[in-house]
Amino acid sequence: MTSSVLKRVPARISRLCQLHHSPALLSTKAEFNWEDPLNLQYHLKEEEILLRDTFHAYCQEKLSPRVLEANRKELFDRNIMKEMGKLGVFGCTLDGYGCSGASFVTYGLLAREAERVDSSYRSAFSVQSSLVMTPIYLFGSEEQKNKYLPALANGELVGCFGLTEPNHGSDIGAMESNITYCKEKKSLLLNGTKTWITNAPIADLFVIWARDKRDGRIKGVLLEKNTKGLNTSKIEGKFSLRASETGMIFMDNVEFSEDQLLPTGLGLSAPFTCLTSARLGIAWGVLGAAENCLAVARQYTLDRHQFKKPLAGNQLMQKKLADMSTEIALGLQACLHVSRLKDENLVVPEMVSMLKRNNCGKALNIARVARDMLGANGISDEYNIIRHVMNLEAVNTYEGTHDVHALILGRSITGINAFL
Ligand SMILES: Cc1cc2nc3c(=O)[nH]c(=O)nc-3n(C[C@H](O)[C@H](O)[C@H](O)COP(=O)(O)OP(=O)(O)OC[C@H]3O[C@@H](n4cnc5c(N)ncnc54)[C@H](O)[C@@H]3O)c2cc1C
Repeated sequence: MTSSVLKRVPARISRLCQLHHSPALLSTKAEFNWEDPLNLQYHLKEEEILLRDTFHAYCQEKLSPRVLEANRKELFDRNIMKEMGKLGVFGCTLDGYGCSGASFVTYGLLAREAERVDSSYRSAFSVQSSLVMTPIYLFGSEEQKNKYLPALANGELVGCFGLTEPNHGSDIGAMESNITYCKEKKSLLLNGTKTWITNAPIADLFVIWARDKRDGRIKGVLLEKNTKGLNTSKIEGKFSLRASETGMIFMDNVEFSEDQLLPTGLGLSAPFTCLTSARLGIAWGVLGAAENCLAVARQYTLDRHQFKKPLAGNQLMQKKLADMSTEIALGLQACLHVSRLKDENLVVPEMVSMLKRNNCGKALNIARVARDMLGANGISDEYNIIRHVMNLEAVNTYEGTHDVHALILGRSITGINAFL
């Protein structure tokens, strides 16, 4: 535990890390491990492995037992935010303000562990870290950072990120939410509606993106819950990410002051910078869900006998497992590579679009195939897979749909903007 990164990891995480030994760290023998076919572990730093293993234990011991009921009843346990906060995982790539200053690879590994259990828990982790803490860290005033970041890091405060609107999803540049100046009240006013916002119904802090009519620029506004004119509603009846609170935000002449604006977050590039971080976390996360599908399908087909032999003894089944394993392993190597580049400030959004798009699509396909391999049991939530299938449908859509990321890549490959 001597590296510079670990020195910056809060004592509470470091202590927990010491409890976990990773035998693979010591292994020098080349061997095939179906759970890590291309030996990702080899390229991880000691502190990354320790943080991953600590969070893996938490996710498996504390989140996994809750998820079945949470998914059935559409419940998100608010205590999860405090538990994750205690582990120091929120905003773990940020420096200071109660954050660990860990690598982006660590962030990805944590996202993968959360989503191995359920995409809803990874969503809560991603939104708090990349979409609420990151904009405050990058674009906030010193006062805003001191006021909010420590409380968001320890999970005392829950944040949400309001970008999408009822009439503007992919085409967010056309957003209608707006900021105006009211001469009589001598204050700023925020009006508009946001929809499909993760954590909105339980949020204490709202990062809202709106166009300032004074200069036409998109800006971030920080609003606290119970502000007059600010209301939320829960979106009921989702058949995806059911263990996540998703809602609408209504802003009706919400009065706020200049010091609630993120001072340096001007233009659409500000929310997009945060989305690039979140999307890279998603690219890691969905592979965690896919790994869980692979593990369940493998064990199930080893255990279940049809036609006098294990289902896993059939060529068709083995081909499916080989395809899944290959896509996951390749996807993880790509995540590792791009995350290392991000740690060196060498990432461009197209790289992240490629991974978000490809890994979501591959994970969704893996989950669908795995579901089929379990026959009737594949549709029972007790085997997890159908829940992953449903979740991955939403993850494939949010933070830029599969096709929108193709257009982002296509624009850079051809030089032609197909959005317009
Ligand atoms: C569970 C969940 C949680 C979410 N959480 C958040 C959050 O916390 N904060 C937030 O701001 N948003 C959030 N979102 C919103 C999400 O980011 C949007 O749903 C997403 O950006 C897509 O927008 P849309 O749903 O309006 O689809 P649309 O933009 O209407 O797209 C509909 C279809 O048209 C396609 N399409 C769009 N434009 C083009 C084009 N030019 N050419 C070809 N095809 C096109 C799309 O690929 C898609 O298939 C969440 C969504 C979900 C489902």
